[in-house]
Amino acid sequence: MPIKIGVLTSGGDAPGMNAAIRAITRAGIAEGMEVYAIYDGYKGLVENHIEPLNYHFVSTILNRGGTIIGTARLPEFKQLEVRQKAVENLKRHGINALIVIGGDGTYRGAAELNLLGINTIGLPGTIDNDIASTEFTIGFDTALNTIVENVDKIRDTSSSHQRCSVVEVMGRRCGDLAMWAGLATGAECIVIPEVGLDVDRLVNDLIMIRQKGNKHALVIITEKMVKIDELTKIIQERTGYETRSSVLGHIQRGGAPTAADRVLAMRMGAFAVRLIKEGWTSRCVSVVSNEIVHFDIYEALEKPHQIKLQLLEDAKTMR
Ligand code: ADP
Repeated sequence: MPIKIGVLTSGGDAPGMNAAIRAITRAGIAEGMEVYAIYDGYKGLVENHIEPLNYHFVSTILNRGGTIIGTARLPEFKQLEVRQKAVENLKRHGINALIVIGGDGTYRGAAELNLLGINTIGLPGTIDNDIASTEFTIGFDTALNTIVENVDKIRDTSSSHQRCSVVEVMGRRCGDLAMWAGLATGAECIVIPEVGLDVDRLVNDLIMIRQKGNKHALVIITEKMVKIDELTKIIQERTGYETRSSVLGHIQRGGAPTAADRVLAMRMGAFAVRLIKEGWTSRCVSVVSNEIVHFDIYEALEKPHQIKLQLLEDAKTMR
């Protein structure tokens, strides 16, 4: 009997998810396995929206953003009876292993399924880079590059008009997108949830930067930390900079994956198939020091996210 693998994408979509689906499908087929698409995350699993994937189906998806098998959020998946329905559907198709691509919520769902006897492997697919066990998640590099491209444009107009620009980026509770984008664009101030927002300090920093003769300034801030319009108003009133805000929004999720995300997805997808072949379960795939490794899912979920605070300090010395 061949091993039958199901693959699903769940939570927020991320560029590179398709590259991972392609890698899993092709590596699985090469190992003599059968691979099934489960559409729209755990929703499709519960609703039995499951179809076989073949070599040709995944032939043109490597460079496409989003996820061709769809994603969804299904809060009801936290209920045991809903998960039992999912297990019944997997058994009906003879699927004995499941690869989930998503963030920490998706990992929690996978760990719960494992307790019901389904072999599960998690791949980190999220632009936020908020999975502590891995240095990089699939989609982060693409989103970062999208932010940098757009912030460069905002910087052009901000410097022409001698303004302060406040740019809000995604990340949920994780400051990586803001921090890396801030470093890559030379932002004067980077505000992230791991450090918190101290309005007085931010204002004082901007006043100091203005006194140094900087005619424009750039502030990059993680979403959901503050009402951006209110902060913009405070900065304008207290620093003397004419100040404008930009919320980059969903543009950050889209677009073709960068080469780095494609290669990461390919490596992680092939690795996940090997883990299944070797009989591993309840594991999540990670990249650490450029090596692909695996951890217990629960262990990974419990790890605190570490931010490289030294980078923020280094950035401050350059402004
Ligand atoms: P992400 O995977 O990007 O973190 P979410 O947190 O929205 O996104 O989680 C995606 C889906 O995973 C949820 O809609 C739900 O179906 C499932 N999920 C999240 N947390 C749990 C949990 N504790 N138990 C079971 N399933 C969960």
